[in-house]
Amino acid sequence: MIEVESLSKSFGRVKALDNLSFDVGDGELLGIIGHNGAGKTTVIRIIAGILHPDSGRVFVGGYDVTEDPVRVKSMIGYLPEEPNLYERFRARDLLRYFGELYGVRGDVLEERIWELLDLVGMSERAYDPINTFSKGMRQRIGIARALIHDPPVIILDEPTMGLDPATAYSIREFVRKLKGSKTILLCTHYMEEAEYLCDRVAIINQGRILDIGTPSELKSKIKGNTVLEVVLADPSAADISMIEGIDGVKSVELDGNTLRVSLECGDVTGRVLHGIGDNIRSVNTRETTLNDVFIERVRSP
Ligand code: ATP
Repeated sequence: MIEVESLSKSFGRVKALDNLSFDVGDGELLGIIGHNGAGKTTVIRIIAGILHPDSGRVFVGGYDVTEDPVRVKSMIGYLPEEPNLYERFRARDLLRYFGELYGVRGDVLEERIWELLDLVGMSERAYDPINTFSKGMRQRIGIARALIHDPPVIILDEPTMGLDPATAYSIREFVRKLKGSKTILLCTHYMEEAEYLCDRVAIINQGRILDIGTPSELKSKIKGNTVLEVVLADPSAADISMIEGIDGVKSVELDGNTLRVSLECGDVTGRVLHGIGDNIRSVNTRETTLNDVFIERVRSP
């Protein structure tokens, strides 16, 4: 449904996108993860037709974004990182305004407005102005606005950023319910969110795709699947290079007083603990997560 071909975009000396290519299948939910400034928003703004690339092409449903911008925009529902909602509008009027802008009219529009307000849990606040809403409520209205014209493609830029856990959870569940019926592109910093929601995940760094695949494909590419977390009594005494030198240790990271050691297999645990000696407060082993993949891929692209 979405084809991104060799996109490049620079802002002055900053190369935001560097020959970036990927595609999103019909009904697929593709997640894009990357550090601040990796190029996530730039690529989705180009797909949404808000920004022009320096080179490369984007097709949505077979239509070229540059050659057929109006048609492509009508196929996309876009929730920007900070949705610009008209503050004085009441929620219901805002949805009516955007629905009409996209050519939805009459009873169909009215029905859709109430259906969406209900879906995002905002029907009770339908007649309240946007400027009385909390961040989470605005985000819900932003999602309803993105869906008002029932587009086949949804683009969500960090939809749960800065929300309390309960609101973030309900938005994630809402996105999960859309899965399959819509093609979704989701930018997120939350690895658990990506792992929970996405069919495939693209890891972006400095405007390039480092890797793309299903969460389990990405995790299986890291050799071994065990992470040893050791809480140290004295982190300043940790001899990281000695532990890195142990056969079977793939990477070592000191995070506060926790030493995170990625192992080729669980059998290496004993050698690592022996190497740390009596500087151990507690030990935990766990399976590799998407976060481990992200850290490893970004560290050694
Ligand atoms: P974040 O996670 O912080 O939202 P991001 O991955 O979405 O980051 P982008 O917003 O795409 O990153 O930015 C990529 C690079 O392009 C950054 O170095 C940014 O400073 C630069 N950039 C983006 N938009 C502009 C602009 N309008 N003018 C100048 N530089 C820009």
